[in-house]
Parts: sequence; structure tokens; C-alpha cells
Amino acid sequence: MNYPDEFDVIVVGGGHAGTEAALAAARMGARTLLLTHSIETLGQMSCNPSIGGIGKGHLVKEIDALGGAMAEATDEAGIQFRILNSSKGPAVRATRAQADRMLYRHAIRRRIENQSNLWLFQQAVDDLILEGGRVAGAVTQLGLRFRGRTVILTAGTFLNGLVHVGLANHPAGRAGDPPSISLAARLRELKLPQGRLKTGTPPRIDGRSIDFSRCDEQPGDLDPVPVFSFLGRPDAHPRQLPCWVTHTNTRTHEIIRGGLDRSPMYTGVIEGVGPRYCPSVEDKIHRFADKESHQVFLEPEGLATHEFYPNGISTSLPFDVQLELVHSIAGLERAHILRPGYAIEYDFFDPRALRRSLETQQIPGLFFAGQINGTTGYEEAAAQGLLAGINAALQVQGREPWCPRRDEAYLGVLVDDLITRGVTDPYRMFTSRAEYRLSLREDNADLRLTAIGRELGCVSDARWDVFCRKRDAIDAEMKRLSSISVNPVSLPPERAVQLIGQPIERDHTLAELLRRPEVRYAALMELAGPGIAERADELGLDALRCEQAVEQLEIQSKYAGYIARQRAEVARQEHNEHLPIPADFDYARVQGLSNEVRAKLVAQRPETVGLASRISGVTPAAISLLLVYLKKRR
Ligand code: FAD
Repeated sequence: MNYPDEFDVIVVGGGHAGTEAALAAARMGARTLLLTHSIETLGQMSCNPSIGGIGKGHLVKEIDALGGAMAEATDEAGIQFRILNSSKGPAVRATRAQADRMLYRHAIRRRIENQSNLWLFQQAVDDLILEGGRVAGAVTQLGLRFRGRTVILTAGTFLNGLVHVGLANHPAGRAGDPPSISLAARLRELKLPQGRLKTGTPPRIDGRSIDFSRCDEQPGDLDPVPVFSFLGRPDAHPRQLPCWVTHTNTRTHEIIRGGLDRSPMYTGVIEGVGPRYCPSVEDKIHRFADKESHQVFLEPEGLATHEFYPNGISTSLPFDVQLELVHSIAGLERAHILRPGYAIEYDFFDPRALRRSLETQQIPGLFFAGQINGTTGYEEAAAQGLLAGINAALQVQGREPWCPRRDEAYLGVLVDDLITRGVTDPYRMFTSRAEYRLSLREDNADLRLTAIGRELGCVSDARWDVFCRKRDAIDAEMKRLSSISVNPVSLPPERAVQLIGQPIERDHTLAELLRRPEVRYAALMELAGPGIAERADELGLDALRCEQAVEQLEIQSKYAGYIARQRAEVARQEHNEHLPIPADFDYARVQGLSNEVRAKLVAQRPETVGLASRISGVTPAAISLLLVYLKKRR
């Protein structure tokens, strides 16, 4: 049967990518349908209930700046918040939260159910409708045909999912959920380039059976409790809980080694490659054989459950080995396992076959986002979902796609890495992946992206209003600090030492003084107050936004030199970066290119010279040759 309504955007899958995609497209006014296996599992965290961390937190703040749901939902569901790297520079500081799994799902579901232009339907999708080579909708298990002008696939780990515990395995999307077999078969028929990856999860433990007296307590940051969303309020978080730390030991490692002959990883039963940066415990003791102990973080799964997530012992060893290894760890001697750990293998699609908009090159109108593109992690998935949702909506509105640049957002780094380099193992975000990380900080995600989101149509009036007030306050204050000067007469040595740590020797503006590492804004306000906090009412800012504005003034001042150098570098790269390569460009005509480089360029068809230069194996010499031919063509 043909479903009577037609849609602009159909999203398949209600995980982290799918929910952000659907919300973004609907916010932009596109008639959007979210088709998913189960309404109960919307926003389900398949693995550890935590959001953020280094690199990932940056993505969450960017999603938030573009009006996405992840940061707000985490603020509503977070039971422990921490700022990681708080003693280091602002570029690598990152927010991490432990979330109550159930509250998080509720927060996402409520947003989906209350979003205008968004319809929800529970049903497995088995097939895609294609017309004239273009996607035209999706067909569900019941044979219902939903027509859509664009389709975004966000099937996560479900495509041909195979769950392993020891040498036993069974098809599943994740434990307790069905796999997507028919859809996977259909995608194979379409000959989209694909591969197999794997990921894993630890056994879960009943907190009532943990001896916490044998573990170290790890409290969150409580004064103040950090927030994720630009609009967040620390007093709106639920009750906060500590996490706990324990360790594996030589006995644990012996038990694991003794079970490797029944490990699906080490006996070759699993073919997919696992996440390099989030290895299983058996991988860890194999790769770091000289280490006698590894940390295990015991993380509560929520306020209304005793379930604990032992972060650090992800495993697919047989259950008897899991039980023994858990019992060998201090504090877990009498632990009761609630759910076994497992590994899952699944199909993913080579992201090098995608455009920068996340639309597939092969099938116009079909977008891929999330784990299906070879990434791992909720944040990476949500960021891609948001981008795919935005670009699907832009396409139906007849507008150009939005493709964030590497110097603009971690989202740009993520997509650029995926489509130029592809993946060999599940891709996760790190700050080290961003060459312009001094400019791409968590603290300025709103300043980098809110105006873009507003232009695209995915930022609400309420967010825009608060954002403008904060941005204007920072700009006006920076001008004011630049207009006030002090000199040795107006600031005698003792007073200068008292306020800024050292005497001043000549005329300085307050903006110049603020650049000194030891000078704080609050001290300058004793000279030229009232400062932002004292003028909060007049500026229309609440206490947290005032603090953020002051933080911005300090960071922008103290890092001004480095940031200017980075901007100059971006400007230098700019020209070639955006030089387009026509879709029909004939690489055979470029003499001097090696066959290997030519084959890579033909296979990936990069849209710009910048993208071409980042394909592995494409040398600077090859780019020079390409530039010569592109100039001739013009
Ligand atoms: P998912 O969250 O998997 O969502 C996919 C959605 O699509 C589901 O709602 C599903 O029901 C729906 N769906 C699938 N097929 C269909 C269909 N045919 N029709 C309708 N609906 C469909 N990440 C980490 O960062 N660290 C980890 O340690 C980690 N470990 C993991 C361990 C396991 C066992 C698993 C399963 C995942 C793990 N992840 C981990 C990854 C993390 O869960 C994913 O990266 C993230 O959930 C991906 O989001 P997604 O939206 O792409 O897919």
C-alpha cells in the first residue's frame, strides 16, 4: 500500500544520527518522517551512558549551537558532569557527562514528539524506492510505501548485525534488538562500496553487589556543575552521583589469556575491525602485554536503577570467562552480572563514496549518517545526522548544501576526514584531528556556528535572542577595554602590582593588559568597572551567560596572537581549498599523474582541490599538476 502522505525528508533509524537528522530537517520546515524499529528505543544509548569527552564534547557543543538536541538532552539527563583537561589550554578542555540512560531517552523522545513538521512511525524499513536512479522513498516490513523526496539512512550497527559472545553468535542489531537483514541485502544489490566493522560492550553489573569500599570515589565537578547546552542551567540537572574507579590485575589478565582460545576475536570468527581507541579488555592485555593493571570506571546507569557500567572491560569472551574476570577485580568479587558483554559485527559503507553534504554520490537524494559511515560514538553519529538533516532540507528547498570547513567546525573535520581518507577502523573524534584546534574550541562553538544555523533556519528565536545579547556584550566590552588607557601615573606601581601583578612602564589599553597571562578581567574591573556581571540586567544576561562572556574576553585576548596566526594560515590555504573540480573532470588528461593517484581521484571524485589534497597517497606534486590543468580549463 502507498501511504497517503508524501514527505520531503524520510529518516530511517531513531538512534543518535536519526533523531538529530529528523529534528534538524523539521526545524527547517521540511515535512519529515522518522521511521524506526521501535519508538521505545528512540535515542537509546547502545553502550556506555556517557556523552562528550575530548573532541566529542566539542561536537556536542557544535550540535547545540546549530539548534540540535544532544546537549539539551544531556543537561536534562546528566547525573555527573566534569570538565576534562581543566588545567590545560582552552582548546583541549572538554565537557563530559554521565547520563541517566532512561532520562536521556525520554528527553529525546519528548523533543521528537513535540517537534512540528515531524511525523513518527514505528516499523522496520526493508527497501528503498528508486525512480530514475534517484531515491523516492522507503518501504517497510509491512509493505507500506512511504514516498519522500530525500531519504537519510542512519541504521547504526543494525545492518547485517551479528552479536558474538564467545564462539556463539546470533543475528541482532544490538543485544535485544532485531538486525536489518532485508535492507542490508538491498544496499548490497545497489553496489554501494561497503565493509564490515565491529564494536563491543562490557557486562553490566548490579550495583548492590559491588563493594564500593574497595574502589576509589570519583566525584563530578560540583561547584559549579558544568552544563552542555548554551541555554543550559546547572540547577536544572537531576541529582548528581559519583563514579568509582577500580583496576584489573595480573590474575584478571591470566583469566583473559586462558579464555582467548574461545574468543571470537582471537580465533578469527570476527572479521570486522574494532575501534582502535576503545579496545576490548582482551585486546588491551594483548597489545599492552607488559602492563599489569588497567583502570575500570564503575559508572552508574541512572538514578532509578542499580545497574552499573564497568567502563574498560568491554569483552566478547565466553560468559564463564566474563564472570571469572569480573570477580577477579577489587570491589567486584561478589558482583552479579545483569547482562553479558558482547561484540557486534555490522556492515558499514565507505564514506569516500559520499559528498561533503553526506549525500551518496551514486544515488541522488539518498544521504547516510552515523555509524553506517564507519564512525563510532553517539556524538559523531549525532553530528552527522544533524548535517544530513540540514542538507536534505536544503535540497528540497532548492538551496545549496552546507558543508562546514575544517577551520570552521569539528563537524567539518569529521566529514572531511571521512570522505577523503575513508576508515580502516571505527572513526572517533579527537582534538588532535583538528589542525585549527586553537580556533575550534568548546567555549566558542556558539560564536562560530549560531549565526550560520540561524541563516540555515535551524536555530530558534529564543536561542538567537540570548546568543545575540551575549555576542553583542562581548563585542561592546572589547571595544570599551580598547578605549580605556592606563599609564604609570594613573596606575602607580603598588596599585599595579596589587591588580595585575607587576608595575606598568608605559601607556596600555585595558585590552592590551588583558592579553597578559596573569591578568584577570575581574582585576581590570577594579579600574574600569562596572564589568559585565555588574551590568547583567542592563545587558539582559543571566549569571552563566555573563561568566561565559568574561571567559570569552579573556581567551580571545590571551590567545589573540596564536589565533591571528591560525587565521593567516587559513587564508593562505583558502584559495586552493575551495577551488572546485568539475564533476566530469577528465583525470586521464592530466599528464604526469601516477596510475595509483589517478585511480584514487577517479574513484573518489573530490569536489575541491582541498579535498583532493587530503586523499591518502595524493602528493603535493600531483596537486600541482592538477592545478595546471584546472587553470587551463578555465
Ligand atoms: P544507532 O544508535 O545504532 O541507531 C540506529 C537506529 O536505527 C536504531 O534506532 C535502530 O532501531 C534503527 N534501525 C536500524 N535499521 C533500521 C531499519 N531497517 N528500519 C527502521 N529502523 C532501523 N560508541 C562509543 O563511542 N564507545 C563505545 O564504547 C561504543 N560501544 C558500542 C558497543 C555496542 C555493542 C554498540 C552496539 C555500539 C557501541 N558504540 C560505542 C557505538 C554507539 O552506540 C554508536 O556509535 C551510536 O549509537 C551510533 O548512532 P547511530 O544513530 O548511527 O546508530
